[in-house]
Amino acid sequence: MKKLYFIVGSQDLYGEECLKDVANDAAQMTAFLNDKLSGNVEVELLPTVETSRICTENMRKAQCDDDCVGVITWMHTFSPAKMWIKGLQELRKPLLHLHTQANEKLPYDSIDMDFMNLNQSAHGDREYGFILARMDVPHEVVAGYYKDEEVVEKIRRFADVARAVDCSRNLRVAAFGNNMRDVAVTDGDRVESQIRYGWEVNYYALGDLVDYVNQVTDADIDAMMAEYTSRYDMDTDNVDAVREQAKYEVALRRFTKDKGIGAFTDTFQDLHGLRQLPGIAVQDMMNDGMGFGPEGDYKISAFSAVLMEMAKGRKGATGFIEDYTYDLTKGAELELASHMLEVPPSFAANKPKIQVHPLGIGDKEDPARLVFDGVTGDGIQVTMVDMGTHFRIICADIELVKQPAPMPKLPVARIMYRHKPNFEIGTAAWCYAGGAHHSVVSTALTKTDIAMFAKLTDTELIIIDENTTEEDLMY
Ligand code: MN
Repeated sequence: MKKLYFIVGSQDLYGEECLKDVANDAAQMTAFLNDKLSGNVEVELLPTVETSRICTENMRKAQCDDDCVGVITWMHTFSPAKMWIKGLQELRKPLLHLHTQANEKLPYDSIDMDFMNLNQSAHGDREYGFILARMDVPHEVVAGYYKDEEVVEKIRRFADVARAVDCSRNLRVAAFGNNMRDVAVTDGDRVESQIRYGWEVNYYALGDLVDYVNQVTDADIDAMMAEYTSRYDMDTDNVDAVREQAKYEVALRRFTKDKGIGAFTDTFQDLHGLRQLPGIAVQDMMNDGMGFGPEGDYKISAFSAVLMEMAKGRKGATGFIEDYTYDLTKGAELELASHMLEVPPSFAANKPKIQVHPLGIGDKEDPARLVFDGVTGDGIQVTMVDMGTHFRIICADIELVKQPAPMPKLPVARIMYRHKPNFEIGTAAWCYAGGAHHSVVSTALTKTDIAMFAKLTDTELIIIDENTTEEDLMY
């Protein structure tokens, strides 16, 4: 289980008694937060910061602990912020400034100077806030009584985003083949991606994967086929084509496990040694959180893995999708989003069917894929593009809807959605922002999650939602 360290600020000016009270309150808050965040992260209390030395030791411990994904800080008393400078300089993990109090209400009848000196986050947290702002430390502030459910919800959100940042910083991406010839938006600066997000994006010759494919036995394929038929409906007589995909999945799972890979890309332009483009093989792996980007799109491959980690434990679906085609009926415009094959089954509203159909491009055998209609509900569509000088995240609110009529001849899985605030403004804003045709759609995450990720990774963010207006697009 990943963890957050909780670091509480004070100073050695107030005497033993006061520091004992600080430690007791901090321990109680830690126990409360641990209970509330169980299943998400553990919360562990570090020694109260009374001096610069303790602060530095705490931050070093947090920075060096691979299980630690972030730090929560709070000033119980006043805690002179110069004591925090050196420690903060050591920390490069997500930081939450929890602006709270041990007590909810003021004890009006009994409050005295001792009480006020002990419980002065209104004082201490402003001193601390100043040094975070002055040092330009990326951080999140959550204000309110720590037991309040809305405050707990915000801390939980921070924990999800901190886990996602940790996933990002340790993510290895395998690129089988290169970026699809001539395509611009899926390409990017891999060195900058690694500096900013930690993604180790490495090329592997497809032959390296084919070696794994050739070692898969019939027994391995039988086992994978049993998995398929337990989860999906077999809707084809061409079992050989499905077995071919099962073989790819066994090989891909072994390859990625051996090399510690959490996301990968492939391209239909480079399939030497494979008879089909991986379809169900990829779809089934995305279901377990494996990041994927088609046509060599390493950015969406990595980003989808990161966002799936962020959504872990929440209700809803999160995964890769491609913008495809529209219904432009005036006032009732809808988008049909899909891909050649690789739509994650987390989006399935019904039990996916395994089908085999020809693929119009790539000159390979007919690949097996999962076909289904998509889930409905409020969601976001989010992508990342490389602007040359920096990366940009674009996040649009959308509403996933039921497809208005069956599409019996469409041989791929699909979702449909409505843009916000409407088609004209929503899609124009996406185009102005340079948004890609590959994105991650999620009914589990919100723009608030994405905004926190952008803030903590210092990435430009463009939001498109109900408040986006015609005027926003004019400048
Ligand atoms: Mn595509």
